[in-house]
Amino acid sequence: MSLIVAKFGGSSVADAPSVLRVAKRVVEAKNAGNQIVVVVSAMGDTTDELLDLAQQISPNPPGRELDMLLTSGERISMAVLAMAINDLGVEARSYTGSQAGLITDSKHGRARIIDVTPSRILEALNDGAIPIVAGFQGVAQDTKDITTLGRGGSDTTAVALAAALDADVCEIYTDVDGIFSADPRIAPSARQVPRITYDEMMELAAAGAKVLHLRCVEYAKRFDVPIHVRSSFSDKEGTFVIADLEDQSKLVNLSKQGVIMEQPIIAGVAHDLGDAKITVTGVPDRPGTAAAIFQAVADAGINMDMIVQNVSVHGSGQTDVTFTCPRDGVAHAESALRDVQGEIGFEDILTDSNIAKISLVGAGMRSHPGVSANFFKAIADAGVNVEMISTSEIRISVVTRADDAKKTVEAVHTAFGLDADGQAVVYGGTGR
Ligand code: ADP
Ligand code: ASP
Ligand code: MG
Repeated sequence: MSLIVAKFGGSSVADAPSVLRVAKRVVEAKNAGNQIVVVVSAMGDTTDELLDLAQQISPNPPGRELDMLLTSGERISMAVLAMAINDLGVEARSYTGSQAGLITDSKHGRARIIDVTPSRILEALNDGAIPIVAGFQGVAQDTKDITTLGRGGSDTTAVALAAALDADVCEIYTDVDGIFSADPRIAPSARQVPRITYDEMMELAAAGAKVLHLRCVEYAKRFDVPIHVRSSFSDKEGTFVIADLEDQSKLVNLSKQGVIMEQPIIAGVAHDLGDAKITVTGVPDRPGTAAAIFQAVADAGINMDMIVQNVSVHGSGQTDVTFTCPRDGVAHAESALRDVQGEIGFEDILTDSNIAKISLVGAGMRSHPGVSANFFKAIADAGVNVEMISTSEIRISVVTRADDAKKTVEAVHTAFGLDADGQAVVYGGTGR
């Protein structure tokens, strides 16, 4: 008997018929002899709608209250799914994150899980019931307030529970057939990959591939939880995220034929439209100024991604420093920098939200020369201008105009021979 944690994303439980469909699927998995713990996201675009509602009420709501509001989305899903499963003759019990033992720190909107104590989930399993857990939420250890884990955080709830329960696999059900070589919503020729490593998936998630929450992949890697991404709308085999592509032992419920002899060079192309670019101009070119800029931004709690410092214009003693950060952090970063403008002595701050970040990811990059050359040639041939560049051991990223995102992803995808013969299917969701 396998213990499975199965997470259903918002598009899989978007309306009443979808909830009934998921209930049937869950009961079938149990009747096949598995123990199953379910994690649910809010129905459809509920979380975005609740955020819109909050905006209409207050421009800057307290984090505690916003979290209380947003967690209600997942509570609706867990209750209606439990009702649907009970109607199929199997006992189901819904639990909030707090009831399920998801203990976090108290950083509202981006809380981190610090402990998982799933005694009530184990109790339900021992009673033969199916526990249904509200994703994306927990309770703060110190304040006892309700917290959220950040957008897309239900994936992380599922992996954290799978680790705590020592589950055989964490299944992530979504609106596409697995992990593809690019987002099938913007690159229909994307190819589904049967397996991908934690490291590659972490780079893809960090580069904007929201099919999995970055922290869920980090967590899965740390606790060696195999993740199985698949569609709740089809019976296709999906994609396994595992440590080592040659390790067959982690592939639960998947035909284990066809050992992969050599890892493909490229895992995929990701795009991210959620970042903005900030340029600090006229920065005095002396030791310590870059540190002071980045300290101010870090103190404001903003994560920076790419950083570029121009060579100072000869004789001017001044330089420009450009970095990218999440779009919703721009106002905060700008005001933090204005506070230290006098002290650092820079001239001005320019912001630009009209950018895209396009990344090519693959573990084989380490050992194959020519990947960068091919990447930049594809972008140049597409007539797209590159504004910033950054690299890691297994990733190359560029910043382009936002309007060029689709064109760039498709050009790079084709240049690396990733195009599939058919068109990828997107079953649901609004891509919001
Ligand atoms: P859910 O509501 O199930 O959590 P998400 O919208 O968070 O679903 O994630 C699924 C979406 O991720 C897909 O519909 C797809 O548009 C997007 N996506 C981005 N990159 C990829 C990729 N490389 N492979 C598959 N899907 C991707
Ligand atoms: N409902 C939350 C969101 O939309 C969490 C999730 O779906 O994973 O971000
Ligand atoms: Mg998601």
